[in-house]
Amino acid sequence: MKSTCVALLLWLVSFFSFASPWESFAKPNRLSPEAIGSYANGCLLGAKALPLNGNGYQVLRSQNKRYYGHPNTIAFIERLSIQARKELRTHLLIGDLSLPQGGRFSSGHSSHQTGLDADIWLRLADTKLSAAALSLPKPKSLVDMSAYKLSTKNWDNRHFRLIKMAAKDEEVARIFVHPVIKEQLCSLEGGDRTWLRKVRPWWGHNYHMHVRLRCPKGDSSCVDQSPPPKGDGCGAEVASWKPKQPVKTYRGSSETKKSDKKTTAKASTSRPKAKKILPMQCAQLIDPVK
Ligand SMILES: [Zn+2]
Repeated sequence: MKSTCVALLLWLVSFFSFASPWESFAKPNRLSPEAIGSYANGCLLGAKALPLNGNGYQVLRSQNKRYYGHPNTIAFIERLSIQARKELRTHLLIGDLSLPQGGRFSSGHSSHQTGLDADIWLRLADTKLSAAALSLPKPKSLVDMSAYKLSTKNWDNRHFRLIKMAAKDEEVARIFVHPVIKEQLCSLEGGDRTWLRKVRPWWGHNYHMHVRLRCPKGDSSCVDQSPPPKGDGCGAEVASWKPKQPVKTYRGSSETKKSDKKTTAKASTSRPKAKKILPMQCAQLIDPVK
């Protein structure tokens, strides 16, 4: 019994983490800023670090060195934080952006590779967190996961204003939130609903929103995701995410699909995934003889 548990534990560790050469870069390269490839298969030239002491935000788990991004992403976080501080009187907690040269993380999500993805926590920090709390932050879920409904205890109407503020930014292409949060946003919007199109339901985003910026102008090797389906995505579309099976089986979150179609257990096992080929400019960073 004990050996079965150990084997299971080892399997889980190997499933969720593997060595990534991208983790070994301590600094950005000195090239001009450019996002290369797609969100889940690419890298980042000339990354900028998000300053750890910023105005209106704090950086979580800085020990992981995932606070680098394309300059457009850094500028977006800075302007959103200033606006949130002014209008919502809170600090934003910034989770993963990208590694110093982008590329695949050794654990966690498969996107965030081109410096254009940013996780912003939905736990609003009205008072600043200590260094210890920042390095080991406690998430606050806006969704009661077992009941598949909003956690009214953790929901604050400033969440609506924050997500709307981010979605209205010109540079933002998509924002991923848990379907229950999307439903709540749908029900609260009484006027202009165009921004809701950018807010996409996806599993795993119950305590943070994942903001995805569009490819920067002129970055010819950057691959954009197809635009979200037309319309606000409310009503039947978001309702269709409600699991028919227990919630446990629907927690996967790859954030990488071309469209935002749901992944079912059947779909994920029926066909092996095509092997990703890293863009040449990225391959050269990790193996310069190529
Ligand atoms: Zn993310």
